Order: sequence, then structure tokens, then C-alpha cells
Amino acid sequence: MNFTVMEGMRTIERQKKLLAKGASKTMRSRHITGHAIDLGAYVDRRVDWSWPLYHQIAAAMKGAAKELEIPIPWGGNWRKFPDGPHFQLQWKHYPE
Ligand SMILES: [Zn+2]
Repeated sequence: MNFTVMEGMRTIERQKKLLAKGASKTMRSRHITGHAIDLGAYVDRRVDWSWPLYHQIAAAMKGAAKELEIPIPWGGNWRKFPDGPHFQLQWKHYPE
């Protein structure tokens, strides 16, 4: 499956806007430090946000993470605010 990077590093101003409209739940976003990306599934020449596609992308990311020995937590596993497109580097390995 094809996918593309929708967003990487984010300004504090943009994070504040996303928080205000409920698209994010934190000001401690890894996007602000450049340690997170949001991926979009690319199907029939458009981005498709259907959840099942993100399980496939997460499986590919998990495989790449294992191969490169770099843990990459997936936002889709977050209980309070599942975030399928989101992948980030760990705080403990990549602090601010
Ligand atoms: Zn994200």
C-alpha cells in the first residue's frame, strides 16, 4: 500500500490551534520537536483515513522499526485518543 507523510514538524502556534479544536490533546506533542510524523494512506490518488488502512501501515512501520532496531510507537495504540496516522520516536531514546 502507498502512503505519504502528511505532517512532520509542527510549530507551537499550530499545535495550539489543533489543541483548541480538539485535533490534539497535548502541548507535549512530539511534532513540536520534530520527532513525530502523521502518515496518510494513499488510495486511488487520494488520502484515505479509513482505520483498517492504518493497521496495515502500522504493521509496515513495525517491521521497519524492528529491522532498524529503532522503536517507533504508534498512536493507534493509544487508549485515550487513538491516533492512527501518528508515529513517533520514543522520549527515552530521543529526548527534546
Ligand atoms: Zn501526529
